[in-house]
Amino acid sequence: MKRREIVKVLGLGVAAAGLAACTEEKKAEVVDCKPTAAPAAPVAEKPDVIEWKMVTTWPKNFPGLGTGANYLAELIGQMSGGRIHVKVYGASELVGALEIFDAVSRGTAEMGHGASYYWKGKSRAAQFFAAVPFGLTAQEMNSWLYHGGGMELWEEVYAEFGLIPGAAGNTGVQMGGWFNREINSVEDLKGLKMRIPGLGGEVLKRAGGTPVLLPGGEIFPSLQSGAIDATEWVGPYNDLAFGLHKAAKYYYYPGWHEPGTTLECFMNKEAFEKLPEDLQIIVRNALRVANQDMLADFTAKNNRALEQLVNEHGVELRPFPDDVLKQIKALSDEVVSEEAAKDPMSQKVFESFVKFREQAIKWHAVSEQAYLNARTL
Ligand code: CA
Repeated sequence: MKRREIVKVLGLGVAAAGLAACTEEKKAEVVDCKPTAAPAAPVAEKPDVIEWKMVTTWPKNFPGLGTGANYLAELIGQMSGGRIHVKVYGASELVGALEIFDAVSRGTAEMGHGASYYWKGKSRAAQFFAAVPFGLTAQEMNSWLYHGGGMELWEEVYAEFGLIPGAAGNTGVQMGGWFNREINSVEDLKGLKMRIPGLGGEVLKRAGGTPVLLPGGEIFPSLQSGAIDATEWVGPYNDLAFGLHKAAKYYYYPGWHEPGTTLECFMNKEAFEKLPEDLQIIVRNALRVANQDMLADFTAKNNRALEQLVNEHGVELRPFPDDVLKQIKALSDEVVSEEAAKDPMSQKVFESFVKFREQAIKWHAVSEQAYLNARTL
């Protein structure tokens, strides 16, 4: 968001602090006239609170994602000085996980916290704002959204549903997944039954594998019983919590299918537009803070969890061979461009996305990538 809007928010904080001090002074001054001052005071100190509901696709307090939604709600409360109270509902508490889009669209709740690839059935273009195989990293996603035209396109896609979208977190690069067989060539993916959702699943299918859709809670038992051969989930922090290392031998990297998954918080447009301008600015900036904070949280916790997985649980870390990645990338490019060609809006978003990725590849070859390589020489 614009610098002047952030300044406005900060200015508001200062103004609020000044108001509090002034109230304290007044209290001190009216000690001698208690009878008239006392009844009025509680009314003046308690402005009307705007009550909002946030429905989420995550189980309540789910590490990283659910806790990220909680943090955003807290931030909105704190930054607004208590003028907005957001109550967070876990999946199925108010509506089912995959019903949140419709619930916020019709105004049953004011906010929804999820990931835009879940809404592919509403608008195919939505999936480009969450994760694309061999797509953008977290840093690149934020750059495309905030300063590369991505957010305007996202707003255009959600407008017909009466929703305003916003980025509200990022997992960073995910892991390739848990396997019980070695992946030495693309041939090894043939016949592989793997839990891998979205466009990544389509790519696996094209490589001869069978993508399976399973909610989080069913992953571990399915992998342990052999109902699936492999699974991806998120990264060390979430994977360790699920105990996936107890059901598979090899932990492959990198997560080519989800290189920087953006989580979202969308709002009911009518509810948002009813807010006074200063609260609109506060909500938008709270989203920005939550977006950055989730990535920092994931990075710090993944660092620690990876050490634990390798040092305490003896997990065998394996890179996908370069040749496998190269072939999967070629298949991904096919799958993603075919998907984009299915409707004009998807094509429009895809073209903006691809153009940004081309620039980012060139710039990061001489910056992030060059530096990360140099650091480990
Ligand atoms: Ca994943």
